[in-house]
Amino acid sequence: MTINHDHLTIDEAHRLLKAKEISSVELTKSYLERSQRLEPEVHALVSLTDELALEQAKKADELIASGDSQPLTGIPVLIKDNMCTKGVLTTCSSRILENFVPPYDATVVEKLNACGAVIMGKANMDEFAMGSSTENSALFTTSNPWDLGRVPGGSSGGSAAAVAAGEAVYALGSDTGGSIRQPAGFCSVTGLKPTYGRVSRYGLVAFASSLDQIGPLTQDVTDCALVLNAIAGYDSRDSTSVPRPTPDYTKCLNSDIKGLRLGVPKEYFVTGIQAEVAATIKAAIGKLEELGAEIEWEVSLPHTPCALAVYYIIAPSEASANLARYDGVKYGFSYKDTDSMWQAMEKTRQHGFGAEVKRRIMLGTYALSAGYYDAWYRKAQKVRTIIRQEFDKAFEKYDALLTPTSPTVPFKIGEKVDDPFQMYLSDVCTIPVNIAGLPAISIPAGFSDGLPIGLQIIGKPFAEETILKIAYAYQQATDWHKRKPEI
Ligand code: GLN
Repeated sequence: MTINHDHLTIDEAHRLLKAKEISSVELTKSYLERSQRLEPEVHALVSLTDELALEQAKKADELIASGDSQPLTGIPVLIKDNMCTKGVLTTCSSRILENFVPPYDATVVEKLNACGAVIMGKANMDEFAMGSSTENSALFTTSNPWDLGRVPGGSSGGSAAAVAAGEAVYALGSDTGGSIRQPAGFCSVTGLKPTYGRVSRYGLVAFASSLDQIGPLTQDVTDCALVLNAIAGYDSRDSTSVPRPTPDYTKCLNSDIKGLRLGVPKEYFVTGIQAEVAATIKAAIGKLEELGAEIEWEVSLPHTPCALAVYYIIAPSEASANLARYDGVKYGFSYKDTDSMWQAMEKTRQHGFGAEVKRRIMLGTYALSAGYYDAWYRKAQKVRTIIRQEFDKAFEKYDALLTPTSPTVPFKIGEKVDDPFQMYLSDVCTIPVNIAGLPAISIPAGFSDGLPIGLQIIGKPFAEETILKIAYAYQQATDWHKRKPEI
């Protein structure tokens, strides 16, 4: 049978596999071929693990034949290259991990394997997930399938671009300040950052441990719920994982959003937002109102403008501590041609890390250093608490908050690369969510001159069901998520 790769959802693939209209081996081969054909243009993948994928596909076919399949069984997925895959190169798109082969699987990978998923390969990203465009990858820059001259967003740009281009049915990404949602918005796919603690971070290469969270990038909301079902849950190997039962996230997918109270925080519609983005998001919110939601258009979260500053103290501080482990002894790249151990470490880090990673390490080291700690790090933590409290207060009145995912449409490759501050601004709408540890989803909400625009729906802690329900209602009433790039 011919497969419509760019439209095939997990839900549909599962039906085809179960009805034996296609085998997992056939499905996997067709995605591997498509990826090989499109990669010279999209550059979304660090590696394609074809042999392993075909082995997994064969096993999946056996599971299906025995009547023992689950929704993800036999379906090809890509994993962002900062999640450990046993025996498979995991580079974090960094030179310093260019030859790192983990001896174990991340919990999410273990969970996908337990479902009989087919892991096709690893997706490109900004080095150590620091960036908003994949231009900080030490390997290559990924292109946006909607316009190859533009960025796919980041840092999970490879994951998002691959899903948009139909190189995989779905992908996993990670989100520290927007890295699932911003590329989902830029590539017109659905991306969810779960509540902090909902999905295990075990085996995720740490960037900023109090902010990092893994989540799905998919064709639509139903698929997002299916993937969340598979990866969510308590894990004793992640000390911040929350012991809470995992609901069946597909159960909440009905279009009944009548009477839900949704707030629109005005601070997300000011500085630097493109007029067409604001107009598109307001139209999308209007659609939700038509569907029966009660919209409050003038909510205020006054400390929102501080979130970016808070993030760029806390995230680099945590990164500077986490990245201290890369010394050329324990992992990956090692600079050998020196006389002393100290020089070897220095040279390893000098040659192994890219410019943005070094910038973050320096910022973080400074913010944590004696004499500056109170002025920067401690103060940032205090403002973090205020931001969280502001969200708590808003959620006493509203079931969810609605904002643009990004202030702009995807920008041109090279446009912001020499201006870190402009690059940092790409995440003004997503960062507050990580600061407060909340769940949020980005869904396709329209286009401006053929370039995608994402709507962000932010929920209360552990209210993934509410935001999935709202997103589902929107997708039932619109077809933005069904439009695909011509590639
Ligand atoms: N763009 C933000 C940063 O560079 C967020 C990255 C992320 O979520 N991993 O820090």
